Amino acid sequence: MIVLDNVTKSYGGFRVLNGCSATIRQGEVVVVCGPSGSGKSTLIKCINALEPFEGGQITVDGMAVRSPDVSLPALRAKAGMVFQSFELFSHLTILDNVMLAPRLVQKRPARMVRDDGMRLLARVGLAQHAMKYPIALSGGQQQRVAIARALAMRPSIMLFDEPTSALDPEMVGEVLAVMGELAREGMTMMCVTHEMGFARQVADRILFVDRGEIVDDCSSVDFFAGRCGPRAQAFLNSVC
Ligand code: ATP
Ligand code: MG
Repeated sequence: MIVLDNVTKSYGGFRVLNGCSATIRQGEVVVVCGPSGSGKSTLIKCINALEPFEGGQITVDGMAVRSPDVSLPALRAKAGMVFQSFELFSHLTILDNVMLAPRLVQKRPARMVRDDGMRLLARVGLAQHAMKYPIALSGGQQQRVAIARALAMRPSIMLFDEPTSALDPEMVGEVLAVMGELAREGMTMMCVTHEMGFARQVADRILFVDRGEIVDDCSSVDFFAGRCGPRAQAFLNSVC
């Protein structure tokens, strides 16, 4: 579970998040959408402490992100993150990319990590590519490796920041299919995306962010039925 409580963040004097509060319960899939520059990436990066924030608090399964004694490796293992740019290590095979953090950060035994890695690659449909290097894979395949790599830390929550927006259109579906599968398996997910078809099918709730504020927090059914605020409605009309 993620609890955002009155989160405020500024870059210099410029406030990018202004009193953001929301709760993402266990097993819930929440899509975050809103105009460019509204603060979606910043919000999601605050959750696993990739960005510091000065006001309010975020807890991830009870772990307070701003607490001085929070363990960042433990926090980031709990909240796995997948970005727009997959940034796999080009000198490592696909399997080694997936095994790296569980070996180095979690120091789990090699055999177990390898079995886990192969199982995860199979889950994202890439077991046959395990020994290849990233350059030999398409963008969609690389993004599926990035998802497997995040899952290898055994997170309880997955954070996605526009995971399909750097992909060629024909590869978007395969990545969304893996994400949909994860959601059906009960993974708690917070996902910034403009893929409104995915949001409609998979999300339980939509957070609509505008100018650093969560201006709508409603069920996906209400959102797509137009039972949201006027700014969200205008956004929806512009992207659908
Ligand atoms: P997009 O849809 O384009 O990805 P976003 O909703 O994810 O946008 P953010 O990237 O969170 O928006 O940015 C929110 C605001 O903070 C923007 O005005 C942006 O210019 C500003 N910003 C983001 N990162 C920095 C930074 N490192 N330094 C200064 N300002 C920043
Ligand atoms: Mg962004």
